Amino acid sequence: MTCPACGSKQMEWGTEDIDIPNFGKVSHYYLRCRDCGYKINDFAFTGNNPTRAEVKIEKKEDLFTKIARGNQARVSIPELGLNIYPGPVAETFVTNIEGLLERFLRVLPLFEDKERVKEKEDEIHRAMNGDVKFTVIIEDPSGVSHFIDGKDEPNISSL
Ligand SMILES: [Zn+2]
Repeated sequence: MTCPACGSKQMEWGTEDIDIPNFGKVSHYYLRCRDCGYKINDFAFTGNNPTRAEVKIEKKEDLFTKIARGNQARVSIPELGLNIYPGPVAETFVTNIEGLLERFLRVLPLFEDKERVKEKEDEIHRAMNGDVKFTVIIEDPSGVSHFIDGKDEPNISSL
């Protein structure tokens, strides 16, 4: 492994356990360059059992249910045909359902079929207004993802 900052071959790796709010204990792996101190962070969550959780969104207030998503989790909303898959660039985040829908709105313009994009945007906006009932499902082999019934708390943006 070569340091991407200075080209040195002196990379060392280590691990430390840290506590992240809403996720609990996390094993944090990192690579650090001995020459320039450049650090590459990688988070791996110490496993509980795999989880599958779902929440039904039936009225506008339900949109404030929070979701803590680890980077190995799949998040899906079958009624709206929306999925977030785990992948190398998958993010760990804490948001509420409304924030989750906003994430989908941000990536939609990347798709080619403008007509379908428009349809999907309208559908998501209706869901954000509480006009569509839907289910949010998280499936997480690492067991760290979960819903938080934090309707009175302000929204938390991504970690
Ligand atoms: Zn370096």
